[in-house]
Amino acid sequence: MHPFMYVVANSINEAIELSHDRPDSRFLAGGTTLVDLMKSGPERPSLVIDINQLHVLTSIEHSDEPDALRIGALSRMSDVAAHMGVRQSCPAVAESLLFAASGQLRNMASLGGNLLQRTRCLYFRDRSFACNKREPGSGCSAINGENRNLAVLGISPHCIANYPGDFAVALTAFDGVIHTSSSSGKRSIPARQFYTLPGDRPHIENVLEPGELITHIVVPLSPASKNSHYLKVRDRASYEFASVSVAAAMELEADGTIADVRVALGGLAAIPWRAIATERILLGKRFDDAATIKRATDAVLSDAKPQSHNSYKISQARAAIPRALRIVASIAKSALAQRGS
Ligand code: SF4
Repeated sequence: MHPFMYVVANSINEAIELSHDRPDSRFLAGGTTLVDLMKSGPERPSLVIDINQLHVLTSIEHSDEPDALRIGALSRMSDVAAHMGVRQSCPAVAESLLFAASGQLRNMASLGGNLLQRTRCLYFRDRSFACNKREPGSGCSAINGENRNLAVLGISPHCIANYPGDFAVALTAFDGVIHTSSSSGKRSIPARQFYTLPGDRPHIENVLEPGELITHIVVPLSPASKNSHYLKVRDRASYEFASVSVAAAMELEADGTIADVRVALGGLAAIPWRAIATERILLGKRFDDAATIKRATDAVLSDAKPQSHNSYKISQARAAIPRALRIVASIAKSALAQRGS
């Protein structure tokens, strides 16, 4: 492993000051991503700043005005997944965390770190292969290599890696906001603007500046967020990344038309992928109109560009999106019936 200095920060300001003018420093929370990447080589910080003493970043709160969840960036995945307020107000967020990784990892990994996890493309972690994401300009070994798990949406000729996480997919569906602090001040970054497409700079994955610390995450709540679900399709039932995932939510009018619908996709794309075209087609239509659901599903997949080994993901998504919509429609119908009784 590349040699590095290790320091413990005792306040947010101290963490930010320590990282000032040190673009190659990294904040250490649970370490489940960073330490892995330091061992395999893509991350080579000269300074590691341990932020685990910043207990102020561990709270999970519900606010009424506006109706939202506020989750500290140092909250552990397992704590957020088990939190009753999160489970009741936005089940898809809780499920996206519960279905991720393993029990041990969920107990260690922080939400801020979860947002920053990097692709599982085999070549990214193996320094004997060319990889534009690890070493800009070196080439992409996956395009003519092993690409079964990689992306079909949002890719570029320079990188076809997919975003591997789950929580950010749910956050994208609900217009979550990522709050940060740095020596330049505080920022509120909508989740949909946080991640960047690979283009010709696949080594840049998000809009965070060096030394910018994620402090907390806000998930706006709505009637639809209560009627939500995170559907994860994967090779095995646990400790596996999604080949396709769907964060979905729905609110129905009394006559069965769709008043609000959210769909975001994971596993398929370079970044968490909000299915705006799908939502637009569904809004105002009946929840049980199979032809409309098929048209809405096709709309988001029409831009997909399968590689040599991953066209199966498109078939999986064609099944998973309608299935997720049927599940949230059923939850929404029950909620409607309860309100009417
Ligand atoms: Fe690297 Fe991206 Fe190509 Fe994988 S797909 S080898 S991460 S450039």
